[in-house]
Amino acid sequence: MTANEIRDSYKKFFESKQHAIVPSAPMVIKDDPTLMFTNAGMNQWKDIILGTRDPEPRRRADTQKCLRVSGKHNDLEEVGHDTYHHTMFEMLGNWSFGDYFKEGAIDMAWEYLVDVLKLNPEDLYVTVFEGSPEENIPRDDEAAKYWAKHVPEDHIINGNKHDNFWEMGDTGPCGPCSEIHVDSRTPEQKAASGKTGRELVNQDDPQVIEIWNIVFMQFNRKADGSLEPLSMNVIDTGMGFERLVRMMQGKHSNYDTDVFQPIIKAEQQITGLKYFTFEEETENPISKEQDDINVAMRVCADHLRAVSFSIADGQLPSNAKAGYVIRRILRRAVRYAYTFLGQKDGFLHKLVPTLVAEMGDAFPELKAQQQLITKVIKEEEDSFLRTLEKGIGMLNDAMDKLKAEGKNELDGVQAFRLFDTYGFPLDLTELICRENGFTVNEEQFNVEMQKQKERARNAAAVENSDWVELAQGEQQFVGYDYTEYECNILRYRKVTQKKNEFYELVFDNTPFYGEMGGQVGDCGVICNEAETIDIIDSKRENGQTVHIVKQLPKDPAAQFMACVDTDKRYASAANHTATHLLDYALKQILGDHVEQKGSFVSPDTLRFDFSHFEKVTDEQLREVERMVNDMIRQDIHIDEHRDVPFDEAKKLGAIALFGEKYGDKVRVVRFGPSCEFCGGIHASSTGRIGFFKIISESSVAAGIRRIEAKTGKECEELLYQTEDILKAVKAFFNNAKDLQGVIKKYIDEHDSMKKEIEAFQAQAVERAAKQLVEKAREVNGVKVVTAVLPMNPAAAKDLAFKIRAAVDSSLLCVLGTHDNNKPQLSIMMTDDMVSDHGLNAGQMVREAAKLIQGGGGGQPHFAQAGGKNADGLSAAVDKVIELAKL
Ligand code: ATP
Ligand code: MG
Repeated sequence: MTANEIRDSYKKFFESKQHAIVPSAPMVIKDDPTLMFTNAGMNQWKDIILGTRDPEPRRRADTQKCLRVSGKHNDLEEVGHDTYHHTMFEMLGNWSFGDYFKEGAIDMAWEYLVDVLKLNPEDLYVTVFEGSPEENIPRDDEAAKYWAKHVPEDHIINGNKHDNFWEMGDTGPCGPCSEIHVDSRTPEQKAASGKTGRELVNQDDPQVIEIWNIVFMQFNRKADGSLEPLSMNVIDTGMGFERLVRMMQGKHSNYDTDVFQPIIKAEQQITGLKYFTFEEETENPISKEQDDINVAMRVCADHLRAVSFSIADGQLPSNAKAGYVIRRILRRAVRYAYTFLGQKDGFLHKLVPTLVAEMGDAFPELKAQQQLITKVIKEEEDSFLRTLEKGIGMLNDAMDKLKAEGKNELDGVQAFRLFDTYGFPLDLTELICRENGFTVNEEQFNVEMQKQKERARNAAAVENSDWVELAQGEQQFVGYDYTEYECNILRYRKVTQKKNEFYELVFDNTPFYGEMGGQVGDCGVICNEAETIDIIDSKRENGQTVHIVKQLPKDPAAQFMACVDTDKRYASAANHTATHLLDYALKQILGDHVEQKGSFVSPDTLRFDFSHFEKVTDEQLREVERMVNDMIRQDIHIDEHRDVPFDEAKKLGAIALFGEKYGDKVRVVRFGPSCEFCGGIHASSTGRIGFFKIISESSVAAGIRRIEAKTGKECEELLYQTEDILKAVKAFFNNAKDLQGVIKKYIDEHDSMKKEIEAFQAQAVERAAKQLVEKAREVNGVKVVTAVLPMNPAAAKDLAFKIRAAVDSSLLCVLGTHDNNKPQLSIMMTDDMVSDHGLNAGQMVREAAKLIQGGGGGQPHFAQAGGKNADGLSAAVDKVIELAKL
């Protein structure tokens, strides 16, 4: 079976078990402050599991793009070194939200693996939670009982809390889990090892690995650590697709399957090096060098996928947060390619066509954005290779110094600096040092690393208390229709961050828009007769608006009026609507390749990032502005469709974005020809925007442009500022009518005057040269020219050269010049003074310049120095003559 067939068979099987087959959520998460990347299939169901979203349909299945490179799941360092962990992988999953539980999940998993896929049951082992006496949780006998229907007792293994008890976080849903492990050793390996598969489960044997984890969520963990039953039991399963494919294709490494082989073949072609598959390696034990090549090829094949998918999902490499994680993955690949595959130029981007050819059908976002992906990867590679070279240069200097000092250990602080500023990981520094006969103080390095981690932890530490529940219920968002609404507080909690304390409130009804989709959250107040509390911000969490306040109401159970700050709200709304019009106009004027890559909307400004491969010209920007302003003047009314099924929305013409997560029901916002999926707050008609003006157009990354613009009142302010500047300039020119003409005339006059002055100066220099040469003294056969005079540095240099041109040999000329009280010393001599008298102008000028509190240098026959003390000029000139010892 091919990988694609296996993926389809999973979906078909669960469809036949009444599961709704749903799409993968994006790998990059945009609106959850607690998680940057999807790292498990369940992430997108968090709201349902927490009870804030409708659980229907209760049975679902999908294949989910996951990335495990940060936070709780970080497999990055394993990837490439082993053959079954990836950074990005697909997780096949099936869910039951309050429908079937342990028995159903176990039976279905078994039926799929053994009856449908025909995996050999003798090679399958399952684990169950052994229990935790201190927490008063018994062994999961229930799961064991259902497993016993399918496997003999010696294939059921007790597992500890670490492996067999799943938790969403420090608090929240949790429960025991059962894992399915496969013993995929060859018969020879089994015979040679003398161990049973049972003995190797969870022992890090690369051939006895977990493929499927079935989580039985049945508890809720509270902040004090105690457990209570969950109101709805949940089944959450995750099976590693690449591992399953490997089992099905009878391979012993994920990289030997058709998921990775095409990429590895392309790598071999480009580098001219060979990759050894598991079989080839077994037949032919490989050298350390060949193993490094193998690891590097796996790293590059894996990282190529992770980086390409995240770019397609809208997350570009950058120097902060999620973007930085992606940058680090890419750099890791560059490093391996550079060190072990001999790739001194960008390499990964050359593999993109192969990746797209293999996966572009299953993931159309790759195909559509191939050009962007290639460009971004290439630019990142080029710039990191430059950094790498700089770092290697620094390391070489450091090693030279060590050699000179007779030492052979690089200190850990330096190694850490290389890591921190040049992205040079310790192993690379060690490798280069080792090749040159040096060691690195690893202990010191680790101390520095630890210090930095602590700094980061202290900066980011957030502490959440338990929610205090005042009333039951779900929140209704009424902000599309109202800016004021009666509300009650459903629950609140205290949050401590960087020693700041604030509270988060959830209301039953709220007109407040929580920050989402690039639009900032509303602020405002809640009030009643007794008190008024400021809402300083609103955020979105698990599908709800969370209101941030500095202090709790005295009576949280009272009823309040929630009032949004409408000045800010309307300004944001106008900017959001203008962003839609801008998106539309850009597509019209630049072409259909324009795709939104990010946006930010606040009351003061709007920012829009989009794919486009060259600078937008001034004419194009004007055209865009004209088109947007035209639509504003047409005062087009909002045409809003709430809760329409996704497919119907597409029929309306709304453009879905890659990397965006859409629910089953979506909201569509249309202003005339502009039609988008959008949950944001908009102006009731385009006329409310008032006016639209682009402030800047720039590049944010390869292939991504950014436009910043302002609307309405902000434009008014801008206009006034410009008008004031213009008025002030006019006043300089006596309020001339033809300002441009007058300024042009002024500049022309200035230019011609400058030319005249230069001509005068040249004449003056000419004259001075003549006079000075005539006045030259003779000392022991040397013509000595000295002078102290006002002159600018360029003229002084000119003068020195003219004097030299007038005298064939035996000339020593020392000029002290000053320009606006800035002294300068110039020494000029003929070549014979250097060769026969052994003089050096550079050395002499350095010494003499001390008298003008300055420094300088130059060549043996000509040197100059500037200084601070013009009063010392004649002494400096005399000093030079003295140093010449004529
Ligand atoms: P392991 O112990 O092998 O790292 P895990 O316990 O971290 O696995 P889960 O979090 O239970 O795995 O994820 C469910 C399934 O996803 C695993 O059974 C495995 O098949 C797959 N999986 C987990 N991590 C990776 C990874 N980094 N690359 C590929 N597949 C993975
Ligand atoms: Mg793991």
